[in-house]
This record gives sequence, structure tokens and C-alpha cells, in this order.
Amino acid sequence: MKNFGKRVYEHVQHLAGEIGCRMIAAPGYHTAGGYIREVLEKCGLDVEAQAIDFPYWFAEETRLELDGKPMDAIPNVFSPPCHAAAPLVPLGTLAELEAADLTCCIPVLYGYLTREPLTVKEAFYASENDHRVVQALEEKRPPAIIAVHPQLHKRWALIEDCQFTIPSVTVPAGEGLRLIRSAGQTVSVKICSQSKAGKAKNLIARRTSAAGKRIVLCAHYDTKIDTPGAWDNASGAGALLTLAESLAESPSVPVELVFFGGEEYSMSVDQAYINRFDRPAEDILAAINLDGIGHALKTTTVAFFEVPAAIEQAARAVIRQFPGAMQTEPWPASDHSWFYPHGIPTLAISQGGLLNLDFAHTPDDNLEWISPEKLEEAVDLTEKLIRLFV
Ligand SMILES: [Zn+2]
Repeated sequence: MKNFGKRVYEHVQHLAGEIGCRMIAAPGYHTAGGYIREVLEKCGLDVEAQAIDFPYWFAEETRLELDGKPMDAIPNVFSPPCHAAAPLVPLGTLAELEAADLTCCIPVLYGYLTREPLTVKEAFYASENDHRVVQALEEKRPPAIIAVHPQLHKRWALIEDCQFTIPSVTVPAGEGLRLIRSAGQTVSVKICSQSKAGKAKNLIARRTSAAGKRIVLCAHYDTKIDTPGAWDNASGAGALLTLAESLAESPSVPVELVFFGGEEYSMSVDQAYINRFDRPAEDILAAINLDGIGHALKTTTVAFFEVPAAIEQAARAVIRQFPGAMQTEPWPASDHSWFYPHGIPTLAISQGGLLNLDFAHTPDDNLEWISPEKLEEAVDLTEKLIRLFV
């Protein structure tokens, strides 16, 4: 089967266009999981759901008021509910935060403290300073936190850690300016949010007959809140479904397909997959992760991790057959990070160019930008790379 582009586009259209947001444990996420399972079963694969408890969080209403006047604010993801009013204290550095008495104050975090999203507690990439910021906030336990977004005109949540239990909101830069200039005045934060018991699921598909060493092809199917996630990562999930359909015609290729369910908000959900192996490198020949492909304004990239020299050389020759694609530096993130630290040869297929922060994780990551030709290129390339490991 060829003409991958059209087929992948149909899957992307279904996941991002018809289903839309697939935030972990939310209804759209489970609908997407059902669709993935259905396609895989049609290919004759056995599908296993590795289910992990994870809360289904949503907010119904958020109000921020400065001296009685409403301001623009969004609740941070996983924020507990609250209704608090207290004088506001602007804080721009770790030193200011560590020195502040926040028992009866609401801190407005800006500058250095919100130059990046607050790092989740379980993150392996968190720096010492990142940990100290989280620790100081938890020790001081202010009634609520206001975070000022570091980019003009952007408004995604700056705190999104289900283990961080202080209520918080994010405000756009313009509102941050008003707040900073109103230090000491009373600000009121009301968040009506709910966190219900739910499940996250990694979906794992293989042929009944497949045993022993296999090549893992993976992509995450979850999204951030408030985005259809067409590029990130309906594209990768759609590509994997198309490869499942294509490989159904090549039963001799030993593949295991993994649709990760927690990439955006939970490392532990995705890590649960690799944790099932005693010695992952003995069972997994190679891993190929697809995260973010098919954007019309981006360039298809392949990064290598722990790939033996001979295979890397052959892979480079394959990439040369696709003049629109290129090799790129290794980038330690996403779901390929579970494999190469075990010495498993790993490839990450993605795209570079247009800055991700401009559109990924926002409502702008929609179908409009997705190009069937770019999808075709990435999937055709992936299929040829898989065969190097057989
Ligand atoms: Zn992604």
C-alpha cells in the first residue's frame, strides 16, 4: 500500500478535526483511544490497554478581580478550586520568593520566575533552581498564585502539574503589567474546577504470533488542554495507524506499536510502558518515535540516539532519498527518551523550522497547517527506516 499521505491525513482529520482536544483522561481522549483501537483491530492486531489512574480535570469558571474589576485570566491546568482575596505581592526572582511572607498574600510571579512554565515535580530535566521555586511556593502555601505569561498575546497555562496543589491562574502580559503596578492592592481569585477519578491509557498493539525481539514504533495521542493537536500529535498517531495498515501486508516485520497516553502532562504514565521490561534492550531491537510531523511550514527531521555506525550510515542514505528531509541534532524530550538511555537504538522523527511555541499547544495547532505531502514524506521515510533494523 502506498499513497500514505491521503490515509494519514484521514486519520489526522478524524483525531484532530472530528474529536479535537484529547487531554489526558478527558472524554475526547477516550474517544480517540477507541478510534485507535478500532483501526488497529481491523489490521488484525491484538490491542492491550495499559491503564493507569489519572484524574480527569476541568474548570467551569475562573474569575480574577483587582479592586473589584474583572481581569483576563485562565486557570492553570490541575489547579484545585479556590475563592481567595488578599493583597498582591509581585515576585520576579527566587531570592524575592524565598524572602517573602506569603501567608496572607497572593504572589504575582513574573520575570525570571515565569520565563518558562513551572517545571513538573517528576521531570528528569528539572534544574536545582526549578526545584527550589516549587519548594518555596509549597512551603509558603499562599492562598493562590498568579503567573504572568512571558510572551505577548499568549495565554497557555504556566503551571500544569497534577501534584502541585496550590490554586493558580495565568494572566497575559498586559494584565501582568496592571497587577505589578498595583502592588499591595487586594486581588481576588475564584477558580471553580473539578478533578474526578479517571484513567490514562497507553495502547499497545502487536500480532498474536509476534514474540521475542521487536521494533517499537511509538507516538503520543494525548494533547494539551484547549488545542486540537493536529501537528502535536494527531500527525504522529495517524502515521502510526497508517504504518499498522501498511505493515499488515508485511507480517515478517516484528513491530510493536505504542500509542502513549501521557506525554503532555504525565511522564509517569508513559514511563510505565518501559518499566514493564526487566532488560528493555534484550526485547527491543530499536525504537522509532514520531512526534510532530506534516506541518506545511516545517522541515521533516530525523535524530539518532545510540544507533550503531553501520545502521546510521544506511539511514543517512535513506534520508538522502528525501531531499525535503534532513538529519538533526538529538533532542532529549518526548517519548524517544524512554528508550535510548537503555542503549536501545532510537530514532526521533519530527520537524524543525517554524517555532513550536508559536502554535503548538494552542488552538492554532489545527488541520489548516497540515500537508498531506509532508505526511507522505515522513511516513514513507519512516517505513524505509524501519526496514534497516529488520
Ligand atoms: Zn508532542
